[in-house]
Amino acid sequence: MLYDSLEQLQAACANCQKCGLCEKRRHVVFGVGNPNAQVMFVGEGPGEQEDLRGEPFVGPAGHLLDQYLAVIDLDRTQCYIANIVKCRPPGNRDPLPEEQEACLVYLREQVRLIRPQIMVCLGRIAAQKLMDPAFRVTRQHGQFVNKKGTLMMGTFHPAALLRNPGNKPDALLDFLALRDRLAQL
Ligand code: SF4
Repeated sequence: MLYDSLEQLQAACANCQKCGLCEKRRHVVFGVGNPNAQVMFVGEGPGEQEDLRGEPFVGPAGHLLDQYLAVIDLDRTQCYIANIVKCRPPGNRDPLPEEQEACLVYLREQVRLIRPQIMVCLGRIAAQKLMDPAFRVTRQHGQFVNKKGTLMMGTFHPAALLRNPGNKPDALLDFLALRDRLAQL
Protein backbone atom coordinates (compact mmCIF):
# COMPACT_ATOMS: atom_id res chain seq x y z
CA MET A 1 0.00 0.00 0.00
CA LEU A 2 1.20 3.49 -0.83
CA TYR A 3 0.84 6.24 1.77
CA ASP A 4 0.40 9.98 1.21
CA SER A 5 2.58 11.14 4.10
CA LEU A 6 5.07 9.98 6.69
CA GLU A 7 2.42 10.65 9.34
CA GLN A 8 0.00 8.24 7.69
CA LEU A 9 2.74 5.66 7.33
CA GLN A 10 3.78 6.05 10.96
CA ALA A 11 0.18 5.60 12.11
CA ALA A 12 -0.06 2.38 10.10
CA CYS A 13 3.23 1.16 11.55
CA ALA A 14 2.27 1.94 15.15
CA ASN A 15 0.11 -1.14 15.63
CA CYS A 16 2.00 -3.45 13.30
CA GLN A 17 2.01 -7.15 14.15
CA LYS A 18 3.55 -8.40 10.92
CA CYS A 19 6.39 -10.18 12.67
CA GLY A 20 7.19 -11.64 16.07
CA LEU A 21 9.15 -8.56 17.17
CA CYS A 22 5.83 -6.93 18.05
CA GLU A 23 5.46 -9.19 21.08
CA LYS A 24 8.08 -7.65 23.36
CA ARG A 25 8.45 -4.15 22.00
CA ARG A 26 7.62 -1.19 24.17
CA HIS A 27 7.58 1.26 21.28
CA VAL A 28 7.68 1.01 17.53
CA VAL A 29 10.73 3.04 16.56
CA PHE A 30 9.56 4.52 13.27
CA GLY A 31 12.26 7.07 12.46
CA VAL A 32 13.01 10.74 13.00
CA GLY A 33 14.26 13.70 11.08
CA ASN A 34 13.60 15.98 8.18
CA PRO A 35 10.92 14.69 5.78
CA ASN A 36 12.79 16.50 2.97
CA ALA A 37 16.23 15.27 3.95
CA GLN A 38 18.91 14.88 1.29
CA VAL A 39 20.57 12.15 3.30
CA MET A 40 19.05 9.23 5.17
CA PHE A 41 20.85 6.98 7.66
CA VAL A 42 19.64 3.43 8.15
CA GLY A 43 20.68 1.16 10.99
CA GLU A 44 19.56 -2.38 11.74
CA GLY A 45 17.06 -2.03 14.57
CA PRO A 46 16.27 -0.38 17.90
CA GLY A 47 18.23 -1.19 21.03
CA GLU A 48 17.06 -0.97 24.62
CA GLN A 49 17.11 2.83 24.94
CA GLU A 50 15.46 3.25 21.56
CA ASP A 51 12.72 0.77 22.48
CA LEU A 52 12.10 2.67 25.73
CA ARG A 53 11.92 6.07 24.10
CA GLY A 54 10.55 5.29 20.65
CA GLU A 55 13.40 7.10 18.89
CA PRO A 56 16.27 5.67 16.86
CA PHE A 57 19.88 6.08 17.98
CA VAL A 58 19.34 7.69 21.37
CA GLY A 59 21.71 5.58 23.50
CA PRO A 60 25.52 5.75 23.56
CA ALA A 61 25.69 4.70 19.90
CA GLY A 62 23.30 7.49 19.00
CA HIS A 63 25.45 9.96 20.88
CA LEU A 64 28.43 8.86 18.80
CA LEU A 65 26.39 9.21 15.61
CA ASP A 66 25.50 12.76 16.65
CA GLN A 67 29.22 13.50 17.05
CA TYR A 68 29.99 12.28 13.52
CA LEU A 69 27.08 14.32 12.18
CA ALA A 70 28.38 17.41 13.98
CA VAL A 71 31.83 16.96 12.42
CA ILE A 72 30.26 17.33 8.98
CA ASP A 73 27.95 20.16 10.06
CA LEU A 74 24.80 18.06 10.12
CA ASP A 75 22.30 17.53 12.87
CA ARG A 76 19.15 15.49 13.22
CA THR A 77 16.95 18.26 11.84
CA GLN A 78 18.76 18.06 8.50
CA CYS A 79 18.79 14.32 7.90
CA TYR A 80 16.49 11.37 8.45
CA ILE A 81 17.34 8.37 10.64
CA ALA A 82 15.59 5.01 10.55
CA ASN A 83 16.22 1.29 10.87
CA ILE A 84 15.62 -1.86 8.86
CA VAL A 85 13.30 -3.22 11.60
CA LYS A 86 11.17 -0.88 13.68
CA CYS A 87 10.85 -3.08 16.79
CA ARG A 88 13.64 -4.18 19.08
CA PRO A 89 15.04 -7.67 18.56
CA PRO A 90 15.24 -9.31 22.03
CA GLY A 91 18.65 -9.03 23.62
CA ASN A 92 19.83 -6.89 20.69
CA ARG A 93 20.26 -9.95 18.49
CA ASP A 94 20.45 -9.46 14.73
CA PRO A 95 17.02 -9.14 13.16
CA LEU A 96 16.10 -12.39 11.41
CA PRO A 97 15.81 -12.36 7.60
CA GLU A 98 12.04 -12.84 7.81
CA GLU A 99 11.73 -9.96 10.29
CA GLN A 100 13.77 -7.71 8.00
CA GLU A 101 11.65 -8.68 5.03
CA ALA A 102 8.38 -8.13 6.91
CA CYS A 103 9.45 -4.66 8.01
CA LEU A 104 11.08 -3.50 4.80
CA VAL A 105 7.79 -2.28 3.39
CA TYR A 106 7.88 0.61 5.88
CA LEU A 107 11.44 1.62 5.05
CA ARG A 108 10.66 1.46 1.34
CA GLU A 109 7.74 3.78 1.90
CA GLN A 110 9.88 6.13 4.00
CA VAL A 111 12.40 6.28 1.15
CA ARG A 112 9.67 6.82 -1.45
CA LEU A 113 8.18 9.70 0.56
CA ILE A 114 11.45 11.35 1.61
CA ARG A 115 13.34 10.71 -1.64
CA PRO A 116 16.85 11.14 -0.19
CA GLN A 117 19.63 11.60 -2.70
CA ILE A 118 22.10 9.76 -0.47
CA MET A 119 21.51 6.80 1.82
CA VAL A 120 24.07 5.69 4.39
CA CYS A 121 23.81 2.17 5.76
CA LEU A 122 25.06 1.99 9.33
CA GLY A 123 26.51 -1.47 9.80
CA ARG A 124 26.51 -4.85 8.10
CA ILE A 125 22.83 -5.72 8.43
CA ALA A 126 21.58 -2.56 6.71
CA ALA A 127 24.30 -2.63 4.04
CA GLN A 128 23.65 -6.27 3.24
CA LYS A 129 19.90 -5.74 3.06
CA LEU A 130 19.94 -2.53 1.03
CA MET A 131 23.17 -2.63 -0.98
CA ASP A 132 24.74 -6.05 -1.43
CA PRO A 133 24.00 -9.35 0.36
CA ALA A 134 27.76 -10.00 0.50
CA PHE A 135 28.69 -6.52 1.80
CA ARG A 136 31.75 -6.52 4.07
CA VAL A 137 31.93 -3.35 6.14
CA THR A 138 35.66 -3.58 6.79
CA ARG A 139 36.39 -3.85 3.04
CA GLN A 140 33.66 -1.80 1.39
CA HIS A 141 32.94 1.00 3.87
CA GLY A 142 32.99 4.48 2.41
CA GLN A 143 32.44 3.36 -1.19
CA PHE A 144 29.55 5.12 -2.89
CA VAL A 145 27.45 3.20 -5.38
CA ASN A 146 24.60 4.49 -7.47
CA LYS A 147 21.51 2.36 -7.00
CA LYS A 148 18.56 3.39 -9.14
CA GLY A 149 19.53 7.04 -8.89
CA THR A 150 20.29 7.06 -5.16
CA LEU A 151 23.88 7.22 -3.96
CA MET A 152 24.43 4.57 -1.33
CA MET A 153 27.30 4.06 1.08
CA GLY A 154 27.89 1.67 3.94
CA THR A 155 29.90 2.45 7.03
CA PHE A 156 30.44 1.14 10.53
CA HIS A 157 27.52 0.95 12.93
CA PRO A 158 28.19 3.36 15.82
CA ALA A 159 27.61 0.53 18.33
CA ALA A 160 30.33 -1.46 16.57
CA LEU A 161 32.63 1.56 16.82
CA LEU A 162 32.05 1.67 20.57
CA ARG A 163 33.14 -1.98 20.74
CA ASN A 164 36.05 -1.49 18.30
CA PRO A 165 37.25 2.12 18.59
CA GLY A 166 40.17 1.31 16.30
CA ASN A 167 37.76 1.72 13.37
CA LYS A 168 36.80 5.27 14.33
CA PRO A 169 39.36 6.97 12.05
CA ASP A 170 37.99 5.02 9.06
CA ALA A 171 34.43 5.96 10.04
CA LEU A 172 35.45 9.59 10.24
CA LEU A 173 36.85 9.41 6.70
CA ASP A 174 33.54 7.94 5.54
CA PHE A 175 31.63 10.84 7.06
CA LEU A 176 34.04 13.34 5.50
CA ALA A 177 33.46 11.66 2.14
CA LEU A 178 29.74 12.00 2.77
CA ARG A 179 30.19 15.71 3.43
CA ASP A 180 31.97 16.06 0.08
CA ARG A 181 29.19 14.22 -1.73
CA LEU A 182 26.55 16.39 -0.07
CA ALA A 183 28.44 19.48 -1.16
CA GLN A 184 28.22 18.29 -4.75
CA LEU A 185 24.41 17.94 -4.74
S1 SF4 B 1 9.57 -5.13 13.29
FE1 SF4 B 1 8.42 -4.11 11.64
S2 SF4 B 1 7.20 -5.77 10.70
FE2 SF4 B 1 7.86 -6.49 12.72
S3 SF4 B 1 6.17 -5.95 14.10
FE3 SF4 B 1 7.66 -4.27 14.18
S4 SF4 B 1 6.94 -2.78 12.68
FE4 SF4 B 1 5.90 -4.74 12.23
